Amino acid sequence: MSVERTFVAVKPDGVERGLVGEIISRFEKRGLKLVGLKQMQVSNDLAEKHYGEHKGKPFFDGLVKFITSGPIVAMCWEGKGAIATCRNVIGATSPAAAAMGTIRGDLAMDISRNLVHGSDGPESAVREVSLFFGPDDLVSKWDRTIEKWICE
Ligand code: UDP
Ligand code: MG
Repeated sequence: MSVERTFVAVKPDGVERGLVGEIISRFEKRGLKLVGLKQMQVSNDLAEKHYGEHKGKPFFDGLVKFITSGPIVAMCWEGKGAIATCRNVIGATSPAAAAMGTIRGDLAMDISRNLVHGSDGPESAVREVSLFFGPDDLVSKWDRTIEKWICE
């Protein structure tokens, strides 16, 4: 399995409820490596780009309004199979269907307030990480033999 990077965000409800530490901790304890982290206010433009695949769906306007309603904590996590692993840590989209032990299954009640976002595949991971982070925002490992920073 290859080393991947994926985009995860604590949504405004998670920040508002004081669950940032709890949520980060779950990914850390699982063994993923945190390579990017920032708290930020999402603009309307960025929200519409990020959730572009959902444009035209009945929940789109509410989703954009919600994700721009307060600060989020944007993260990039790295590890073998990180994309699927982060989705598993997060749980099913609807908290009612999310398994106990997942973030949404343990901590959420409402699909429109489900605490966390996670990229759903390799293409969206690359797209979303680069929407929220520049290359200099992500930590890399210094390789002494070639004297370069390497991103796994
Ligand atoms: N969402 C919603 N109502 C729906 C479906 C989705 O409010 O019927 C919201 C929900 O917060 C979800 C987000 O839109 O997290 C993006 O939907 P997606 O299907 O991509 O779910 P996710 O990838 O976040 O599990
Ligand atoms: Mg999604």
